[in-house]
Amino acid sequence: MSASIAFIGLGNMGGPMAANLVAAGHHVTGFDLVPAALEAAATHGVAIAATAAEAVATADVVITMLPSGRHVLEAYRGGGPGGGLLAAAGAGTLFIESSTIAVDDARAAHALAAEAGHRNIDAPVSGGVIGAIAGTLTFMVGASPADFESARGILETMGRRVVLCGEPGSGQAAKICNNLILGVSMIAVSEAFVLGEKLGLTHQALFDVASAASGQCWALTTNCPVPGPVPASPANRDYQPGFAGALMAKDLGLAVEALHSTGVEAEVGSLAADIYRKFADEGGAGLDFSAIITVIRARSEG
Ligand code: NAD
Repeated sequence: MSASIAFIGLGNMGGPMAANLVAAGHHVTGFDLVPAALEAAATHGVAIAATAAEAVATADVVITMLPSGRHVLEAYRGGGPGGGLLAAAGAGTLFIESSTIAVDDARAAHALAAEAGHRNIDAPVSGGVIGAIAGTLTFMVGASPADFESARGILETMGRRVVLCGEPGSGQAAKICNNLILGVSMIAVSEAFVLGEKLGLTHQALFDVASAASGQCWALTTNCPVPGPVPASPANRDYQPGFAGALMAKDLGLAVEALHSTGVEAEVGSLAADIYRKFADEGGAGLDFSAIITVIRARSEG
């Protein structure tokens, strides 16, 4: 069934996600603060609004795909051309929040939406820009069962897997827990390859053993940080992302916030967050996060 959808935030992810909704027959009205993003979306059939409030005024569903929790909360309740979403939407509008934001911010957004008489779910994604273009994203959803059912068809238009993780906030929780595993495991795989190099082990030999043994993981077998064993991994193209170091640093920063707010002691995860933050600040922001191996190797010289 065709829906009237407002799409707020038409950047690297939001632009192609909105285009897929149009291609599926939905009426999509978009808004972004950057004119170039609006122009690009218009070429895919997205109707352009003059303000975010105008975009949501006649929508059944509002999707936000913004940089951070601060942007989401400002868009929900703040002023200016990108704000005022909750006040402008019709009663009972379904807000789908797909940005990657802190669990606490997702819960705050849910509470604000509920207070304003709306429904809200968190539905962050994995799969990157390639998945957004191809419509193969994975959505991790925090929602009541009823709101999940209302959103499911729309999410399936933009993604291949849609997983209900629990109550509001649970989608963001699943996302940061997964990326905590990913960030730490990439560092472990990279340290093992550098140690192997020093011990005279070829990359292929270590790969052949570990990929079929207990060291097996996605960081090794899909996103292998050395060129050769997995031809499609970013290491084979000078670490062009893939999943950028800046995003890994951001997501582990959110994981650390959650570690603090819950009192969980995660020494390795906290250290991994520091390592990626430094990596991103010192030139790795635009590289695939697997380029962390180059830092480990450089530190091991001499
Ligand atoms: P982006 O910076 O390309 O796009 C964000 C857009 O939001 C920008 O165009 C910006 O102008 C716009 N914006 C900010 N405030 C606004 C407002 N009030 N109203 C309208 N537009 C506003 O970022 P992106 O890569 O598309 O990522 C979006 C979100 O998805 C982030 O939370 C990111 O962490 C998450 N994410 C990104 C990827 C990825 O590979 N890029 C993967 C998974 C998740």
